Amino acid sequence: MSQIYDVIIIGGGPAGLTAGLYASRSHMETLVFEGLTYGGRITRTHWVDNYPGFPEGLGGYDLGQKIWEQSKRFGTAFQNKPISFLEKTDFGFLVKDAEGVEYHTRTLIVATGAETRHLGVPGEEEYVGRGVSYCATCDAPFYKGLNVAVVGGGDSALSEALYLTRFTPHVHLVHRRSEFRATAFLVQKVTDEPLIKMHLATVVKEIHGQNGNVARLELHNLETKETYDLPIDGVFLLIGYEPQGLDFLTPFVDFDKQGFIETDHELRTKTPGLFAAGDVRSGRFRQVVTASSDGALAAEEVGKYLARANA
Ligand code: NAP
Repeated sequence: MSQIYDVIIIGGGPAGLTAGLYASRSHMETLVFEGLTYGGRITRTHWVDNYPGFPEGLGGYDLGQKIWEQSKRFGTAFQNKPISFLEKTDFGFLVKDAEGVEYHTRTLIVATGAETRHLGVPGEEEYVGRGVSYCATCDAPFYKGLNVAVVGGGDSALSEALYLTRFTPHVHLVHRRSEFRATAFLVQKVTDEPLIKMHLATVVKEIHGQNGNVARLELHNLETKETYDLPIDGVFLLIGYEPQGLDFLTPFVDFDKQGFIETDHELRTKTPGLFAAGDVRSGRFRQVVTASSDGALAAEEVGKYLARANA
């Protein structure tokens, strides 16, 4: 049989990378799987203002790279492959990557985060990449001086609306309620920003296009009952996140109603040796710092689990 790791971590965002850092620093044989680039969802955040230790803030991509480098320094191994198969074995777990290559481990931490939620209105899927975007950090430079709309009322929508004002003075913020879910600091900044025009208590009914690209939003004000058109060149849908691609875990964990993994306070799932950390976990405050905190705790709990198994 090939090498047996002490812990395999699925997911290379702040939770997974920090779990890797703590596990390898405790001399556990540690392997982290990540589908694409390391850093997870923060790589799509232009600026992180609230991660302690960086008084001026820093770019989301840079933060992801820094945690990855730190984890690597202590010996964490990495594989850029998605995992979609899990089996319980006598000694722990067997996982397989998409090519069917097998990896053995005594414990497992799932830290796969969450993916952007879709709005589900007509025109959305049709115009993805042709005016519909889920990442202002990635796509804002394409909209220099053009008309853009951001949909959502959380931290993501408000911080990315502010970011877009660096590229264009024509930013519209569309939110389904009159109150924002975002933190008060961001609400104040957006309210004070003259380049952002608010459309509150307003929902998107349809995304319309012309010549293959997004051209206007059909909006409906829930209070005045008015339906109106907003001409735009791009729309950024930032309405939250939900876990995806976890079907292979179904026999081993319980999910909440939104599809997040249930754990106890020690991040244990219902399967001994299988832990969950970060945004994929049910009912938690979803910040970079809390994802890192989860990663550290999960690695600590893995250490205790292995010590008990060896006793
Ligand atoms: P979120 O906090 O879940 O907010 C999602 C927003 O989208 C809400 O305002 C919600 O409206 C709206 N929404 C959801 N479904 C909708 C639908 N079908 N149609 C229209 N609007 C819809 O998501 P998020 O802003 O992406 O933030 C996710 C987590 O990451 C949060 O914990 C957040 O604090 C964190 N985050 C932090 C930072 C930071 O600290 N700098 C930056 C980004 C994200 P309602 O309010 O009416 O429900």
